Amino acid sequence: MKFSNFFIPTLKESPSDVKMRSHDLMIRSGMIRQETSGIYSWMPLGYRVLKKIIDKVEELHDENGINQMLMPTIQSSDIWRISNRYDTYGKEMLRIIDRNDKDLLYGPTNEEMITAIGKQYIKSYKNLPRKFYHIQTKFRDEIRPRFGVMRAREFIMKDAYSFDIDSENGEKTYCEFFKLYLKLFNQLGIPVIPVRAPSGEIGGNLSHEFHLIVSSGESEIFLDTKLLDQNFENFELNQILNLDSYTDDYYKEIENKNYFEKFRSIELGHIFLFGTKYSSSFNFNVDSENGKVVPYMGSYGIGISRIPAAAIELSNDKNGIIWPKALSPFSVHLINLNIDDSECSEFCEKLYTEINERNIDIIYDDRNERPGKKFSDADLIGIPLQIICGNSFKKNREISILKRANKDTINIEVENALDKIIKMIGCNE
Ligand code: ATP
Ligand code: MG
Repeated sequence: MKFSNFFIPTLKESPSDVKMRSHDLMIRSGMIRQETSGIYSWMPLGYRVLKKIIDKVEELHDENGINQMLMPTIQSSDIWRISNRYDTYGKEMLRIIDRNDKDLLYGPTNEEMITAIGKQYIKSYKNLPRKFYHIQTKFRDEIRPRFGVMRAREFIMKDAYSFDIDSENGEKTYCEFFKLYLKLFNQLGIPVIPVRAPSGEIGGNLSHEFHLIVSSGESEIFLDTKLLDQNFENFELNQILNLDSYTDDYYKEIENKNYFEKFRSIELGHIFLFGTKYSSSFNFNVDSENGKVVPYMGSYGIGISRIPAAAIELSNDKNGIIWPKALSPFSVHLINLNIDDSECSEFCEKLYTEINERNIDIIYDDRNERPGKKFSDADLIGIPLQIICGNSFKKNREISILKRANKDTINIEVENALDKIIKMIGCNE
């Protein structure tokens, strides 16, 4: 993509009510635009980040045999009356009346709908286990929408749902999702800690949240600090159940608090094994060898549109964002400081084409702007690797490769630039 063609509406300043670093940087780098309180457009640069997350989420869910589907945003109140949540969910639910006076709502979550779907199609134990997911917009009329997409009213969630024949198999599925989440966040370059959570109004008895520890986070978690260096991916169910990490709600119930420390954090994922709560209220049962049984269910959420903000909270400096490789909207940022020099521009065009041909995401700053502006924009949008064609292109036939994170710079000869760059992209952690 050429910068001259790509729409990045950067701003010098955010509105004065912007309090969080990630919110400020997302607005100033032109990633998002507020439409009204808690409701945002994802502009081209921001949407590229979101798509990177979605692609990775899809890849790992598909790999694990979880069926992707798409349920609607608008739901009928009927199914919410069956579970008795239409009255209890409260003001966070956006209620809508259609022209025939029918009560509809904008879905804050989908347990009811997936249970209705399961009940219609899953008739026999032979159809179990079954796992579904979708990536869809949710609406929750939060009391205090704030910090941009971190706590929005309209936001994008990945929510998955599982059906099993009994609690033992349900626990196995839960354990698979637990491991899948750790693998996923690991591959996104976001170090999360699993914490035990109370299961709240969704009901049931097994629940964990996945938190990123950052001092600016809205949540509080309590843990045995031994867990900070732990690799949880190979945990078995009994180890998961004995984790010494808790959400603040759960922590109140703990007796021996001596060795726990408090951390501020951001909740990025939440999994529940709620059992038969919805399947039994929907009279959903399947034939088994021992007669009718009620399927055992779980739900598994990830705050897709919260992840870019969380990643920025984790990694930024005074000049802007520093993307982890997996989330970065582009892998390389090529900056031409000699736009008027035909030799340098030809070289940049050629390098740009060659990198593109290797399916590496590159943004090429071909604008007729002063070097200072190009550098500050590059640091603001935070692509991990910057390639600079400046003074030494003419003088020494050299270009510079610079790491956004620590400004480590190397100069390389123009002749073998392409190979070097490709190597660096491969190992640029
Ligand atoms: P929170 O405690 O932050 O309000 P929640 O527990 O109500 O979140 P869940 O129902 O567990 O949220 O939803 C799954 C995931 O969706 C959360 O882990 C979080 O990452 C994300 N999420 C929830 N509410 C919002 C919101 N208002 N804006 C952006 N993401 C959200
Ligand atoms: Mg939650």
